[in-house]
Amino acid sequence: MTDSTRLRIAIQKSGRLSKDCQDLLKQLGVKLELREQRLIAHATNMPIDVLRVRDDDIPGLVMDGVCDLGIVGENVLVEAQAERARQSLPSDVNKLAKLDFGYCRLALAWPQELGAQSKQWFEGKRIATTYPEILSQYLARENIKASVVMLTGSVEVAPRAGLADAICDLVSTGATLEANGLMQGETILESNACLIQNPALQDDAKLSLINKLLPRLRGVKQAKE
Ligand code: ATP
Ligand code: ZN
Repeated sequence: MTDSTRLRIAIQKSGRLSKDCQDLLKQLGVKLELREQRLIAHATNMPIDVLRVRDDDIPGLVMDGVCDLGIVGENVLVEAQAERARQSLPSDVNKLAKLDFGYCRLALAWPQELGAQSKQWFEGKRIATTYPEILSQYLARENIKASVVMLTGSVEVAPRAGLADAICDLVSTGATLEANGLMQGETILESNACLIQNPALQDDAKLSLINKLLPRLRGVKQAKE
């Protein structure tokens, strides 16, 4: 079933990055037989296996060497790196490329009826987020003392539900914030999908396959520009 000589790439199974990841692999010439429910898809024309998982699991799989490569949002990567470093777990990756999809911003937002606010307003407030590490680092940098409420989903309803005074959440168009009566403030992180590699990878055959794929990746990017 699993063969450790095959290059293993982790991508998101279903979500905002899955279609772009599948398209990218196709453009790189990797022929995959994707079956809806399968965790692993084997390439038919190269020694590559694609693991389809939740995006949150991708940094850890690559940092631990379970997968050689992964495609994940920088937001998820930066959060996982900070969390794992704090737990003294491996947190290094080689970033091979920033990809031209998955763009989003991690931004602060608060109830619209409060109107425009300065950074000082956050002092002593509760801020709900799925990115507690990135938010805590920002607050420390800005010297703001606020409490961070960790939520794994539906962050945008937290103020209305009385769980928090403000939020720090991913935004692309701002439509979700608006629909929830929230006003967008400062962006604390801008993110794209990126291709990461396990830094301890030493297998010559796998490294030479990666070196064959990378120029194709640049070719794909140029073709789109
Ligand atoms: P999973 O089930 O894999 O955990 P998820 O619900 O955490 O999925 P998605 O909503 O599919 O994740 O988003 C995956 C990634 O897409 C995000 O981490 C981010 O990098 C990127 N992204 C791009 N635009 C947005 C957006 N508007 N909102 C959220 N994420 C976005
Ligand atoms: Zn996720």
